[in-house]
Amino acid sequence: MVRVTRVHAGSIADEIGIVPGTELQSVNGRLLEDFLDWEFLTADESLLIAARLPDGSDVEYDIERTDGEPMGVELAPPTVRRCANRCEFCFIEGLPKGLRKNLYIRDDDYRLSFAYGNFATLSNVKEKDIARILEYRLSPLYVSVHATPWEARKVLLNNQRVPNIVEQLTRLADGGIQFHGQMVIVPGLNDGDVLEQSLTDLWNLGDAMMSVALVPVGVTQFSHLYNGKSMDRDNARILLDAVHRWEARALAERGDRWVYGSDELYLLAGVPLPAFEHYGEFSQIENGVGQVTSLRKRVRDGLKQLPRLDGRRIGVVTGVSMAPLMPELLAQLHEATGATFDMITMENSLFGPTTTTAGLLVGADIRRALADRRDLDLALIPAETINDDGLFLDDDSFIAVRESLPMPVYPSYDFIDALVPEGDSMIRSAA
Ligand code: SF4
Repeated sequence: MVRVTRVHAGSIADEIGIVPGTELQSVNGRLLEDFLDWEFLTADESLLIAARLPDGSDVEYDIERTDGEPMGVELAPPTVRRCANRCEFCFIEGLPKGLRKNLYIRDDDYRLSFAYGNFATLSNVKEKDIARILEYRLSPLYVSVHATPWEARKVLLNNQRVPNIVEQLTRLADGGIQFHGQMVIVPGLNDGDVLEQSLTDLWNLGDAMMSVALVPVGVTQFSHLYNGKSMDRDNARILLDAVHRWEARALAERGDRWVYGSDELYLLAGVPLPAFEHYGEFSQIENGVGQVTSLRKRVRDGLKQLPRLDGRRIGVVTGVSMAPLMPELLAQLHEATGATFDMITMENSLFGPTTTTAGLLVGADIRRALADRRDLDLALIPAETINDDGLFLDDDSFIAVRESLPMPVYPSYDFIDALVPEGDSMIRSAA
């Protein structure tokens, strides 16, 4: 059963009388378990839908529709499948106590992998799930592989019951499913021979394995499980050598790079980030692969749209890892606008100094960065720090933070989004 949360006015669902709170039970005789069933089973033109209305009455709708006209319902989010692993490097295991409950949920859900690109290990996938993936052709899936040798993977995922990932991927690939893979590299556990074997196994899946990202392990000061080696510059360089070797082979044999190092890997290694063309379709950008290069391009492309802001002083709050990359971007923004951009680099007060990502800064960090900066006309903060409910990771709200500060504050993904005048823009309100 799936519950309707919203019905679009004038849609098929609206016309036949489905209302929010309706429980959709089956389509053409097949029971509905979640949003995937609904999405795929309603692809037919002739639909017999069994439902229970909020008043408890059972109804059946016999529908003929044409041209894939949408049904027009929004569904309650599915109960997320929990992760059965206990990876030593798990970011969630490393979260400090006292944060809001849903931050501690460790999801490992192939459905979210297909629908939203979340990485899943497939550790908790059952026979029935494999059949569903194949029947609905849930492709591509984003898979946290980490290592293909079975024993190494058991250690990495801290789970003796993980299935053999090569067998799982091979079976799915034989059924036409494709993947984007990631390997979080933990020095001493899955670098060296394990990395080589893993890349070989993934390569042998052919076109089914569309790309592989290598991401260096990152741990917060609160990680209580991980006591292995951290990723240093030398390790990062060795990993990048492997990336270069494999990408040369992939370019020669399949015409794309196939394997990518995450931005963090290049930064740790002290190696310049590749150009925009390097990343092709940016298929792993959400995984931190090509984000900086994409940002550079968006800034470059947006400069022409910027207004003159001579005499203004604009604060830019960022994290430690982005700090070395900022001056180049801020110099371009200065040249295009005439404004002075002050970079304010903050350590993360919640996760500790080893967490350097700008997007993980919390409300308290923003307050500390800007509270005494009466010299600023406005300030930009990383938009990624705020969730859809307007909250930072420490539960501080953006509105409360903004109201406490002496200058207008705007979340921004790439500066251009915040500085281009549009309607009631920040520039005007800061004037
Ligand atoms: S797979 Fe590992 S890293 Fe991912 S949520 Fe589970 S324990 Fe954490």
